Amino acid sequence: MLYPWQESLWQNWQQLLEQRRLHHAILLLAVKGSGRDVLARQLAKTVLCQNSETEPCGVCHSCKLFEASSHPDFHVIKPEQEGKQIGVDAVRQCNRWATETSQLNGQRVILIEHADAMGEAGANAILKTLEEPPQGCQFILTAQSLDSLLPTIVSRCNKWRLPIPAEVNVKQWVEHKLMQSIKQESIRLNSGAPLSTLSFVESGMDIRHGNLIKAFADFLQPPNLGIYDVTALCTADGIVTLKWLSYFLVDCIKYQQGVSDHFVHVESFASVQQVASSVPTALLIDQSRKINTLYRKLEQHTGLNIELLVVEWLTGFIQD
Ligand SMILES: [Zn+2]
Repeated sequence: MLYPWQESLWQNWQQLLEQRRLHHAILLLAVKGSGRDVLARQLAKTVLCQNSETEPCGVCHSCKLFEASSHPDFHVIKPEQEGKQIGVDAVRQCNRWATETSQLNGQRVILIEHADAMGEAGANAILKTLEEPPQGCQFILTAQSLDSLLPTIVSRCNKWRLPIPAEVNVKQWVEHKLMQSIKQESIRLNSGAPLSTLSFVESGMDIRHGNLIKAFADFLQPPNLGIYDVTALCTADGIVTLKWLSYFLVDCIKYQQGVSDHFVHVESFASVQQVASSVPTALLIDQSRKINTLYRKLEQHTGLNIELLVVEWLTGFIQD
């Protein structure tokens, strides 16, 4: 089942499928939390379906195998771990799949998830196949954005960008799913991505985020009490909390500079005002730079002690 915000792109593809004009290498650009895997798989399933050319029939042998995740002509490669590269060997395997004949007497589909995780060597290994794939071989590549993709890959693909729905539609969709109203800032903290927002609220992170912001804003008032409460709230949810604090500091700085809209913290706006009126801009800017550095450090070295580093960072706010 596709998500509502995927329908219009899907109809474009359906038209091309009907006219047999779908490019042999589709590059789908979509942010995390927009369900791009669902859309990519829908396309793969359709290409492989034995009954229909424009949507999976769901009843043929091919569709059944696809649903059971055991279709012999559907191949997927992706990084072994999020954030890691796709190995050259895996990419070379794609070349072999591309030249094999179909086991079901139809098409073959090769899906490369996180195509931006192919290193230069990997990308070079597949360029020729992407440019002129053997007959009956469909490539689907997915990535977050163009920025991290090698231009040589991009130039050989037909690019499609999955649009993020408007905030009001995300709000409606998530609220309908959860049967409860949600905060606007929950959407903004997740860059507007519907599925990320849904799991954010579903797992109670929206409440913990609110608690953290409140504790942090209170700590920033003299005499700066409660450093360990803030730290405990950070440690509980891990490094994502540093992102929240970073967005919060940016909101405070924006408020001090007279910006009047586009704040991430909508429902927590009182805390933004509270901090903006008591902490000097220079300190906010300095600390915001430091927390971004800290975030990257913790992202790269998972073994570091987040508790210790957060306490150290928070101490930077205490002026005397
Ligand atoms: Zn079918």
